[in-house]
Amino acid sequence: MPVPLIALNDGTTIPQLGFGVFKVDPDETERIVTDALEVGYRHIDTAAIYGNEIGVGRAIEKSGIPRDELFVTTKLWNSDQGTQSAFDAIDLSLEKLGLGSVNLYLIHWPRADLGLYMETWTAMEQIQASGKAVSIGVSNFHIPHLEHVIAEGSVVPAIDQIELHPGLAQRPIRDFARNHGIAVEAWGPLGQGKYDLFGMRPVADAAAAHDVTPAQVVIRWHLQNGIIVFPKSNSRERMAENFDVLGFQLTGTELAAIDELDQGLRVGANPDEARF
Ligand code: NAD
Repeated sequence: MPVPLIALNDGTTIPQLGFGVFKVDPDETERIVTDALEVGYRHIDTAAIYGNEIGVGRAIEKSGIPRDELFVTTKLWNSDQGTQSAFDAIDLSLEKLGLGSVNLYLIHWPRADLGLYMETWTAMEQIQASGKAVSIGVSNFHIPHLEHVIAEGSVVPAIDQIELHPGLAQRPIRDFARNHGIAVEAWGPLGQGKYDLFGMRPVADAAAAHDVTPAQVVIRWHLQNGIIVFPKSNSRERMAENFDVLGFQLTGTELAAIDELDQGLRVGANPDEARF
């Protein structure tokens, strides 16, 4: 069964299920992304700060998969906010990836304390116009940051990539994004393994009912909620498990029970407080 495509507000589409490489060791990235591509993933999410764009690029090149069958995202790091530094950052990322363009370029964090994300967004618009990024978006933006960019920018972000898992369901941002044509991507979709999500009753019960794993249930919950998701694993078995989620459907009752797990449980930094 093919991975569903989500339509973005700029007329392009994105595979709803991908593979993320946060904390993937740069020395192992080529092998791990090669595994992911062999398993069937065609959407890779990296970032300049992960330090592994070179490995991602090598795996892509070695795979021989036509460029137009792949969706590649990278992100502009906080210290590169500003106009010229953004232009330099995309050039360096493209050089490391060995690509002429990325499918999606994101501002990694708003870092509103720097006072630069609006200027950076204008630079992102120019990067998009130059063709170096087909789509542009943001990450870790809260509603006020999105409102600011929508009000003052020329382009509405195609994507907001935020921490999102059953314990932190982010309803207000998802509702705002839907109303403004912004697609939502989940980072830490499995809670980064930092709380016992897989042992929670609604997840465990649905896994038993469908004879699948708890991780597969959580990925399905994301997919059936229209969220774009790219769980990370260094293990090829788990990559395959996380990709094998298109052959079953959670019921409305199961989805609603998982929705009840929302408790504002953040496993990463709060974007309003992040100072890295
Ligand atoms: P995740 O929720 O995908 O959790 C990854 C962890 O879950 C792995 O360490 C692995 O041990 C475990 N895991 C994976 N598959 C499993 C399975 N089938 N069964 C049991 N355990 C399993 O967390 P993540 O990697 O932080 O998030 C996914 C991607 O989101 C990242 O790789 C990265 O691309 C992106 N991300 C973005 C930001 C941001 O600020 N924009 C921050 C963090 C991550």
